[in-house]
Amino acid sequence: MARDYYETLGVARGASQDEIKRAYRNLARKYHPDVNKESGATEKFKAINEAYQVLSDPNKRSQYDYYGQAGPQGGGFGGFDFGEGFRGFEGFGEFGDLFDAFFGGQRGGRRAGPARGDDLRYDLRVSLEEVARGAEKELTVAHFTACAACKGSGAKPGTQPAKCAACGGQGQVRQNQRTIFGSITQVVACPACHGAGTTIQNPCPACHGSGREKKKHRVKIKVPAGIESGHRLRVPGAGNAGSQGGPPGDLYVFISVEPHPLFNRDGASLYYRTSVSFLQAILGGEIKVPTLEGEAVLKVPPGTQPNTNFKLKEKGLPHLGRRDKGDLYVLVEVRIPDRLTREQEELLRKFPHA
Ligand SMILES: [Zn+2]
Ligand SMILES: [Zn+2]
Repeated sequence: MARDYYETLGVARGASQDEIKRAYRNLARKYHPDVNKESGATEKFKAINEAYQVLSDPNKRSQYDYYGQAGPQGGGFGGFDFGEGFRGFEGFGEFGDLFDAFFGGQRGGRRAGPARGDDLRYDLRVSLEEVARGAEKELTVAHFTACAACKGSGAKPGTQPAKCAACGGQGQVRQNQRTIFGSITQVVACPACHGAGTTIQNPCPACHGSGREKKKHRVKIKVPAGIESGHRLRVPGAGNAGSQGGPPGDLYVFISVEPHPLFNRDGASLYYRTSVSFLQAILGGEIKVPTLEGEAVLKVPPGTQPNTNFKLKEKGLPHLGRRDKGDLYVLVEVRIPDRLTREQEELLRKFPHA
């Protein structure tokens, strides 16, 4: 499972619709199950189609750019559920938090050649009040950035990386491959320098040749109103720097919404539980009910039965990406006194039986 639709199609983030269409056609032809019998081709073909379905639709594409693979509702794009999207996110399962991701992210140690930086994960808790209004947050994120001493080259300052002898500095070599269609000459990344075209004789002492250093940086993000636990926000380019000129990874902010002392939540609906005295239930009256925007007044009609649900329209949460709001449901219980004075008892006994 590719972790990024752009990577799946092999196009840049800023690719035009035409470029996306062209990339899709080429790949679909290459991996079509009727043509390509290699193992994994069918999965690849599915992934290509899924990526194209999202990226070819400007609306879905902009949502994807902002929310990542889960989609704004956490329901994914086109039959792609969140659970699957989550598992598709390789590398995150093993990381408990950002710092694990940070230190665990250096898989395989130092890399040669330009490589995209790792994606990072940040777990952010937000309150229900923030969900109601939306919020701006400033996160402090530790990430790898280009080493200041060598400006990311990995070579000791004052020295230059030397031209790779194996590929003459091209970073690519030609390889002949036999396929069912005949012999094909392919250009592949040079195995000696992993595509960099250079090798480092004198590594930079500050970064030991990796070209990267650890730094904390601040990232401002907008948490949209109506967001739910499990949603992710993507901050492009805020992950680790790539090595030797590779592009940076992205930062994924995983949202979890804190439980609220008063309200339960289901999507845009809020649930609140309160009680009235049996006299209020019988005679009717007004009670005050808390909402996320201050108190509201609920009219309890005469003859209200125990555990009646009332709806306060649009006192719930905003729907994500929409202007309208959900409702607040108030469950009204009835308090029956467990002790009566003699006087109260006499009065109640005079009450005519229905
Ligand atoms: Zn350095
Ligand atoms: Zn080389």
